[in-house]
Amino acid sequence: MPHNFSLQRTAPSTSDSLADNPHQVAPAKNRTHATVEILAEMILSGALPADSSLPSERELSLRLGVSRNVLREATKILQSRGLLSIRHGARTTVNSLRNEPVQQAVSGALYGSDNALVQLTEVRLTLEVSIAELAAQRATAKDIATLREFVQNLQAGISDATRYAEWDVAFHRALAEATHNSIFVLLLDSVAAMLRQSRDLALMHTEPRTSLPDHERIFEAVENHDAARAANAMRSHLERQKAAFRTYEK
Ligand SMILES: [Zn+2]
Repeated sequence: MPHNFSLQRTAPSTSDSLADNPHQVAPAKNRTHATVEILAEMILSGALPADSSLPSERELSLRLGVSRNVLREATKILQSRGLLSIRHGARTTVNSLRNEPVQQAVSGALYGSDNALVQLTEVRLTLEVSIAELAAQRATAKDIATLREFVQNLQAGISDATRYAEWDVAFHRALAEATHNSIFVLLLDSVAAMLRQSRDLALMHTEPRTSLPDHERIFEAVENHDAARAANAMRSHLERQKAAFRTYEK
C-alpha cells in the first residue's frame, strides 16, 4: 500500500505546530493529537489491519506512553474520522478502508499533478454544497448536537492549525452523516483521505481565523434547517479555500 507519504509528512507538521504555539496549546491536547497521528498511521499502513481489534486500553496506553484519558479522546477522534468503530462492551475495531481503490487510483494522479489541492477542492465543491443542503433538510436533533460540539472544538482549536484541521475534517464528515445517505459519507471519506495526503500543504494555506466564521455560518444554517443558506455558506467556504490553493499552486 502506498502509504509511506504520510510518515514523512506527519512528523514535521506536529513539531512545527508545537514550536509555533508553545504557550497556547495545552500539553494534553498535544498528546491527544500525537496519539491520533500515530494510530492513524498504524491503521493506514496496515500495522493495525482492517477488522482487527485494538489492543486493550491498558496495553495500548503503555505502548504509546499516554494516559488512558488521552487514548480515549484520540480513539473518539479516529472514530469521527471513520477509521475506528467503538462499541460499548466490546473491543474497539479498525474499520476496513472501503474507499481504498478510489483512494489509490486518485493518489497517483494527485502526486503527479501540480494543482492537486485546487482539483480536490473543485470535487469537494460539487459534493459538499449538496451535502450542506441535504444536511440542513434532514439533520436530526442528535446530528445538530454533534455538529455544535465540533464547531465548539473548532473555536477552541483556533490557535493550533494542526488540531483545527482535525476538527475541520470531523465537522465536514458529521455534515455528510447528517444527510443520512451513507454514499455521501463514503465519498467524503475518499476525499478526506486524499486531502490527508496533501496535509502539510493544505495546513499552510488554511487560515483558521478566516474559515471559523464559515463553519459557524454553515452550522447555523443547518441548525435552522435553511438549505439554501447552508449551500451558499459551504460554497463560499470552499471557494475561499480554492482561491488560496490556486495562489499557492500556480
Ligand atoms: Zn472546513
